[in-house]
Amino acid sequence: MGILYGLPMRAGLPEVTQAVFLAWRGALEWIRWDKKITLSTPLWVGAWLTHTAKLQGFSKWDKIGISLAGDVVGTEGVKSFAELQEEYGLHHTQFFNYLQLRHALVASHLEKAGMSEFNPLEAKLLQGALGRGGLSRIYKSLIINSPECFQPLRNKWEEQVGTLDEEDWRDARAAPREIAISSRLRFIQLKFLHMAYKTPTMLHRMIPGYSPNCPKCAHTGADFLHMTWSCPSLQDFWNGITRIISRVLDREIELTPRSALLGILFDLGGRRGERAFIGMATMIAKRDIARNWMSREAPKLSVWKAGVDWVSKLEEPIYAARGCPGKHEKIWGKWWSYYGLNV
Ligand SMILES: [Zn+2]
Repeated sequence: MGILYGLPMRAGLPEVTQAVFLAWRGALEWIRWDKKITLSTPLWVGAWLTHTAKLQGFSKWDKIGISLAGDVVGTEGVKSFAELQEEYGLHHTQFFNYLQLRHALVASHLEKAGMSEFNPLEAKLLQGALGRGGLSRIYKSLIINSPECFQPLRNKWEEQVGTLDEEDWRDARAAPREIAISSRLRFIQLKFLHMAYKTPTMLHRMIPGYSPNCPKCAHTGADFLHMTWSCPSLQDFWNGITRIISRVLDREIELTPRSALLGILFDLGGRRGERAFIGMATMIAKRDIARNWMSREAPKLSVWKAGVDWVSKLEEPIYAARGCPGKHEKIWGKWWSYYGLNV
């Protein structure tokens, strides 16, 4: 608890434990709740409430449940001694300690009411309110609270695909979490969002003598967009996919780098389920492009089709287990009726 609230990590902590502490601290800083006292801040340990953590002789208080700022500060400010006696059965011999504590709380500017009950991470983790989808919600609050960290990336994408408004960019950042259920596919989307695959142009800069040419078409200066979209051999692949998706949905779909690569699906129109299908279908295309990254060959449509079918089957029991098999039908129904169950 002390380390979570700012005490230095002692030497010899296992690396995995250190990683948890660092993630906690990094996340708090990121959402700008670092060092902000809430009613869930511990009184007796840590480096945030230094005035109370320095006090001696309060282990009895801790034992009877007076451990957090919120235990001694109420809606009216610092609770009276009588209130604490009533609430916790605090012994009358503790009055001197109470005065000391009160002094320390005033020194920490906690004499006034109106603190938050908890910060977003405390709410989700310490209060046990994590529940289903809790990690996704934490991820969501992290990305929504940290737009400026993504600004250079946004600029890079805007150079390639034109202006992205706030909503577009929010969708693009949410795509790794929203498009795919499988964590492997989510990771691929995350790598697309961050343009994290090394292009011949990058490798050429890093390694002397490395060819900057596209391995598929020998185009000079193959950047991320070329390697994922505009290479002629990939254009054939994407055109094939566009044709099939249009046939399955029975309407003309026009895929663009915004929708196909970044996962900004809203402009594609149609129902939510249809867009989720397009998201998955393009996700598998990205998987195939990543698999064939430095290959001379473009990905094959037959492999893509089998992949889309594989995901459709993979997701069926997941939706069933979540109690919403109808949702699966809305996403995959048209695909299954077009190709039959045994593609
Ligand atoms: Zn090429």
